[in-house]
Amino acid sequence: MMKPRKVAERTMRGYFASKRQRWPADEAREILQQVRLGPDHRWMDRTLAAQAAETLARAAFPVDDLAESYLKIAINYESLRHLDNSEGCQVLGCAYPSSREIVVSDRTLKYHPLFRTTVLHETGHVLMHRRTAKRCLLYKPERLASTPEEREANAFMQAAILPESVLDLAICHICNIYGIDLRLAYSAANGARGRWVWRHRLFVHLINALCVSREMMGIKLKQLWRFSDETVEYHKTYALRTWWHTPETLEVLPRPLRKVMRSVYERLVAAELSTDVAPSATEEEEPMMRSHVVTRLPQLRHHR
Ligand SMILES: [Zn+2]
Repeated sequence: MMKPRKVAERTMRGYFASKRQRWPADEAREILQQVRLGPDHRWMDRTLAAQAAETLARAAFPVDDLAESYLKIAINYESLRHLDNSEGCQVLGCAYPSSREIVVSDRTLKYHPLFRTTVLHETGHVLMHRRTAKRCLLYKPERLASTPEEREANAFMQAAILPESVLDLAICHICNIYGIDLRLAYSAANGARGRWVWRHRLFVHLINALCVSREMMGIKLKQLWRFSDETVEYHKTYALRTWWHTPETLEVLPRPLRKVMRSVYERLVAAELSTDVAPSATEEEEPMMRSHVVTRLPQLRHHR
């Protein structure tokens, strides 16, 4: 059988080609090769930044469109709470590969990045596990994937939702906008200052831009050896408010009121993000390095 990563790449390229577009992961790789950094940590070429913004906007593609319109997989919405007891944890999704159907728990609708991972995980089952005809494959994100099928579905989902080149481009793009030293995002990510930057700048903007959860990014950054185990654990200890959280009270309002309240809520979140304060000197663990050579970032060439 084809590897999950390959299945994801082929599926994503096909999906974007059906819209006469290129897969953002391929574009991101090319843009990264052209980036040159100035001494102020900003990109030398501004038109490239505009191109990056456009590519990133398409990276947060609608997963239900991928499943329903392109792959002809039916998505059903149910509670799935009745399965929690027998499984001993929250069950968020379920796949029926033989009939090309998936079921997604309505609980995922409260946080859109969770909805996206759930749909893509179940889509992975439908594409790769057709022989497991009648069995229902459950998605239980709290549990470590125990069977090869679950690991394959997770690998498919990770490759489709957050390709490394897209994550790298998004990090570079945000550093460009805010004039952040890229080393704080990469080689110094495990120090106090790097953690501050991830907590107060990068995560919020990355989640807002890419619609991918902090947990998923932590998994990727650990795989890429940029986050240590301790750093991953640290970033699980605090709350973050992003555009994708829906307050539970919103769900019970009638639709027209929900729309108004949601726009008010989004404005409040945006206002809160913009009033964020800068780190105090006492939080600095290591002094800011004077030279601006980017290490451990092979794709970027640095301008001196
Ligand atoms: Zn599964």
